[in-house]
Amino acid sequence: MAELWQSDLWELSEGLEKREFSSKELTQMFLERIAHQEHLGCYLSVFEEKAIEQAEKADARRAAGDEVTKLTGVPLAIKDIITLNYGTTTCGSRFLEDYRSPFTATAAQRLLKAGTVILGKTNLDEFGMGSSNENSAFGPVKNPWDTSRVAGGSSGGSAAAVAARLCPAALGTDTGGSIRQPSAFCNVTGLKPSYGRVSRYGLVAFASSLDQIGPMGKNARDCALISECIFGRDIRDSTSAPNEVPLFSSLLERDIKGLRIGVPKEYFREELSSEIASAIHKGLGELEKLGAEIKEVSLPHTDFATAAYYVIVPAEASSNLSRFDGIRYGKRADAQDLISLYAKSRSEGFGPEVKRRILIGTFVLSAGYYDAYYVKAQRARALIARDFEEAFSEKVDVIAAPTTPTTPFLLGEKTHDPISMYLNDIFTVPVNLAGLPSLSLPCGQNSSGLPIGFQLIGRAFDELTLFQVADAFQKTTDWHLRTPETKTHSKD
Ligand code: GLN
Repeated sequence: MAELWQSDLWELSEGLEKREFSSKELTQMFLERIAHQEHLGCYLSVFEEKAIEQAEKADARRAAGDEVTKLTGVPLAIKDIITLNYGTTTCGSRFLEDYRSPFTATAAQRLLKAGTVILGKTNLDEFGMGSSNENSAFGPVKNPWDTSRVAGGSSGGSAAAVAARLCPAALGTDTGGSIRQPSAFCNVTGLKPSYGRVSRYGLVAFASSLDQIGPMGKNARDCALISECIFGRDIRDSTSAPNEVPLFSSLLERDIKGLRIGVPKEYFREELSSEIASAIHKGLGELEKLGAEIKEVSLPHTDFATAAYYVIVPAEASSNLSRFDGIRYGKRADAQDLISLYAKSRSEGFGPEVKRRILIGTFVLSAGYYDAYYVKAQRARALIARDFEEAFSEKVDVIAAPTTPTTPFLLGEKTHDPISMYLNDIFTVPVNLAGLPSLSLPCGQNSSGLPIGFQLIGRAFDELTLFQVADAFQKTTDWHLRTPETKTHSKD
């Protein structure tokens, strides 16, 4: 089955439909590839038996003429912070090493109902906290484009697995860039949906006012297909939105002539690598050739975003993570009394970045500092959201920007300097603070061949326009088709 690992979801779906191969064969092929690429650290668990069982069921469903969807029999991977009622959900943490969830997240449930096969759970920074995957308690993920470099984070396992073709697509989560940044680092297409688009039921909470589950794949049309399945209101998450979900997959073809694309001048700053800036300008040139109108816009409060984010997020995290105490959740330490049991379990269970966030969060929420930090950060958040609203209200339909200031950095390069790690998120966090949808897609490579990502930001609940623009771009460019020349292709 040569080349099948290169096929996108639509092609796989068509092949299954025409009986060119079975879901079982497809699943076995990916399981073999995964077994040969363990050194990349993409997966925390692989469901050999369960995946084959699901594949056989999908094949039987098709053979019996039962109702199928485009995703029936298609294998996917999911980030290990999204629960399944089988296997473990570790969240990349020692604390949850043996945690088995009694329930399944709505997003995963919807995929399973559509007939997908879940190959395994992918590696991540502990509880989603990080930008390099080096905060995983189970080792970092290596970037398949250069294994001395990070895959990005926190959904680094999902991004690297798609890039190394160890699954055709995956689910990630994005609180401050965790889908888009690793997508950019690994040459993958990833969407952070509007806040409220995807149910957070069964997603282990990090920062509840920002967390969203979203698709990561080879291209925009694959992300559209997954979105169509996982989007939509869920009564088990009261923040999930009732907005109608368009049938994205049938609405992709669109002439983008006359579409107004805004380029925020604040994103073209000193920290931005010149190679990325020039790739973005070339990308904008492509969109212009397709008839889009490119305009400069201003998002004047951009500078406050990272600081506001790193106050609000730890505040929410410190509260969410209080449930991990060795009693309700998490591995219990040996101790003589209750207080030392809590203290010891939390000290042993959490890694250093998680502890740092809990300390910062507890501090900014404490009496006396609440107004100075937390309230001020919330004010900045409102201003950032207003900047986007103003740009979208009359001037532009979509905003285009770089996804990251640099290409993937070396493993270990930033681990001792949390501030420089946080600054990697300057272009992704504003979108989360504003609750908007944003898609990152491949748009170039630097002089060392490392991937560059291009970020499209839309109006709230307008993922459709993002898919249409990205699909039009991917019909005229081939960046997204490029694969890393690593040993990853030795087995096909
Ligand atoms: N890098 C950011 C952080 O560490 C984003 C994380 C995320 O989106 N889950 O908080």
